[in-house]
Amino acid sequence: MGLEVFSLENKIALITGGGTGIGLGIAKAYHEAGATVVITGRRKQVLKDAVAELGDNVHYRVNDITNKKEIPNLVKDIETNIGPIEVLINNAGIHYKGMAQETSDEDFEKILQTNVISVFALTRECAKYMLQRKKGSIIMIGSMAGIFGIDKVVAYGTSKTALTGLVNALVTEYSTSNVRVNAIAPGWIESNMFLNAINNDPQRKQQITNRIAMDHFGQTSDIGNAAVFLSSEAAKYITGVVLPVDGGATVNF
Ligand code: NDP
Repeated sequence: MGLEVFSLENKIALITGGGTGIGLGIAKAYHEAGATVVITGRRKQVLKDAVAELGDNVHYRVNDITNKKEIPNLVKDIETNIGPIEVLINNAGIHYKGMAQETSDEDFEKILQTNVISVFALTRECAKYMLQRKKGSIIMIGSMAGIFGIDKVVAYGTSKTALTGLVNALVTEYSTSNVRVNAIAPGWIESNMFLNAINNDPQRKQQITNRIAMDHFGQTSDIGNAAVFLSSEAAKYITGVVLPVDGGATVNF
């Protein structure tokens, strides 16, 4: 069997939050694997810069994922003007650092809106088309905070844990239509979100470093390459997994 099972040639991938960090790393890896890529985010200039960096076959749409009324329009626009979405990467997410006792209901709700409720709304809309075509791959971007308990991220950790529930439930309903649903749980990956979260907190940084068996932070391309595999034909019998890409952090003592 040739390496073509790993290719994403002729596939269209929608990557939310694809203009920065992990999303941009995924967009790069998909582009290199031959996919047509559509990236979204709230900041037009960030998206334009990313498209200019990536080259041909990369499109952007300015979209706030929490504006749920817009989701059907976004998906229809891409389906009509670019082509059938075969891969959805739910990467857009926000972080909130604060002890549980200092986290307000509003803080908690804001995180859930972006990281879970909008993810479900976009997934349901894209799946409408995928289920009809009997073809699709949906990937959630989870977190270590969805696998084990981490202090100071109660809302974020709850939101990422909820994505596992979403994966499990959707697998029971989508699998007979050949729509696969998986998640990647990135470890600590060098992106602005992560660097902002640990800046000025050397103790936290040390705690994290101690946890990583491979002894160093990950790169956004590490997540991109894992996502390419999960959405390629090489992974056609893989659905319902949460794949840690974490330098061994999950199992390290
Ligand atoms: P970034 O902050 O660089 O990326 C977040 C992206 O999401 C941005 O492009 C942002 O664009 C977009 N985004 C945020 N809110 C919205 C919204 N309402 N609508 C549309 N787009 C939105 O951080 P990362 O790359 O690190 O994070 C990407 C994902 O990876 C997140 O889900 C995060 O939780 C997850 N993750 C990251 C880890 C890490 O170590 N870096 C570890 C584990 C998980 P814009 O602001 O322009 O809208």
